[in-house]
Amino acid sequence: MNLPNWFKQQPETPKQILPEFSWDQIDCVFLDMDGTLLDKYYDDYFWEHFVPEVYAAKNQVDIADARKLLLKTYQSVENTLQWTDLHYWSDRLGLDIVALKREISHLVNIHPHIIDYFKHMQKMEKKLYLVTNAHPKALKVKMEQVPIENWFQRLICSEEVGIAKEQPEFWHKLQHLLPYDKERTLFADDTEKVLHSAREYGIQHLIHIAKPSSRLPVKFSVHYQSIVNFQELIF
Ligand SMILES: [Mg+2]
Repeated sequence: MNLPNWFKQQPETPKQILPEFSWDQIDCVFLDMDGTLLDKYYDDYFWEHFVPEVYAAKNQVDIADARKLLLKTYQSVENTLQWTDLHYWSDRLGLDIVALKREISHLVNIHPHIIDYFKHMQKMEKKLYLVTNAHPKALKVKMEQVPIENWFQRLICSEEVGIAKEQPEFWHKLQHLLPYDKERTLFADDTEKVLHSAREYGIQHLIHIAKPSSRLPVKFSVHYQSIVNFQELIF
């Protein structure tokens, strides 16, 4: 059957590239926090709605204008450590960002099947590391709400490494803090740019999270093996 042109031109939704590896090939697992283990809805709501509302009220401007201005400001430091530096934002916006984070911390939530996945990894004696661009104070707010830190050998914030995960140099510098075999490491993250940088450095097993936020639809990567949730890695 010949499909009409208007139908053919619909953008295609990428299909899932299924995870295909054996846990025998892996000793060490790096897991991103926001969007990977925790629901990114909290972060999206915080920066896109809550901060603009508070900023608008403080500066007596329209919320829509404040939102437009702030989104543009955020973009100006994307993929850098400034983006995650809460002190930077407190200074730049004239707001107590840590206090505001805490004010809505009841929205911090863990994705489904994460604890079962941790138990599975523990049973298989894999070493787990949390590797996040989040600022240590943001990490603290999240761990107060969702205490998962004891599952990890160590929690690493990019601030400690001195560079954001989006830069391939990050993975090289991480070797000084935590020597790892890149051939036998698996890394899961919801941000493709971060996975690109890990791939460039040579990390062998990369997993993309296709549903970082509970409020947004699933979006598979065209480049990486993807999962919707961590039950897909329990095998
Ligand atoms: Mg993330």
